[in-house]
Amino acid sequence: MPTQPDASQFNGDLPNYKNCPKLIVGQKALVTGANSGIGRAVAIGLARAGADVIVNYVTNEPAAREVVAAIEGEGAKGLAIKADVSREAEVQGMFEQALAAFGTIDILVPNAGLQRDAALTEMSLEQWNTVIGINLTGQFLCIREAVKEFLRRGVRKDVSVAAGKIICMSSVHEVIPWAGHVNYATSKGGIQMMMKSLAQELAPHRIRVNAIGPGAIRTPINTDAWTTPEAYADLMKLVPYRRIGEPEDIAQVAVFLASDMADYISGVTLFVDGGMTCYPGFATGG
Ligand code: NAD
Repeated sequence: MPTQPDASQFNGDLPNYKNCPKLIVGQKALVTGANSGIGRAVAIGLARAGADVIVNYVTNEPAAREVVAAIEGEGAKGLAIKADVSREAEVQGMFEQALAAFGTIDILVPNAGLQRDAALTEMSLEQWNTVIGINLTGQFLCIREAVKEFLRRGVRKDVSVAAGKIICMSSVHEVIPWAGHVNYATSKGGIQMMMKSLAQELAPHRIRVNAIGPGAIRTPINTDAWTTPEAYADLMKLVPYRRIGEPEDIAQVAVFLASDMADYISGVTLFVDGGMTCYPGFATGG
């Protein structure tokens, strides 16, 4: 794997992510794909804001244990649970374990995702099904189990005015088409409509469903885009704010959406993309 350049090399000043306020004290969260990249930062960020966090992973248990240690370092409880989010029985088993350990759950961040890129005529059915199965069906399976618990329990007034919060990890590719990545873009477009339909269905139960649409975030999923100065310069043509996103940029927004500060927000995708969805090609007049 290419070595990761120091963030300051390309990014300049970054916010102090550790300043995050304690907005979700006493809440219980589950983050899928939480042993890497965005999921890892979200899990630690939720803990920093006061939540206990289940760290779902499917491979690389040591990385999951490291995230649990970081959560504990923030003074919260953490627990790693292995499950492939595309498998119904494993997802159900994960929720059983999570509820047994934490008693309930208030926040779900279905984040696990991957790419299997190919031009259309080269794309196998397996590549298509893998991406849809994990990125889209995996979120459906986790949301269904979390919502059963939210409905069973109702509002936990001592921690939140809502009965539950779902924060789907989408992408700018829920609205930006992506040649050569039809399976991925379709999965993210599907997340958008799943999220909005569920927001509508579940709002009367005081369950909020939203999504985050990351732009280019520095994680192992997209190393090709940021590991050399040339690739980074190319990427910046797509980012009006002229820096790559850090996983912590997403974590801060997840904390906000999970908190009662966002209580009147449901059914939206909050793009966290440095302006990538603002048609940067038109910046000079088109
Ligand atoms: P990553 O590769 O670092 O993390 C993906 C995580 O998902 C890993 O922990 C991986 O093990 C896990 N995962 C994969 N298949 C799984 C399965 N079947 N069951 C459980 N976990 C599984 O990449 P990332 O960039 O952190 O991606 C996280 C999410 O953010 C993805 O949904 C991705 O589409 C989305 N996203 C990332 C970017 C970006 O620029 N990095 C941009 C937009 C959206």
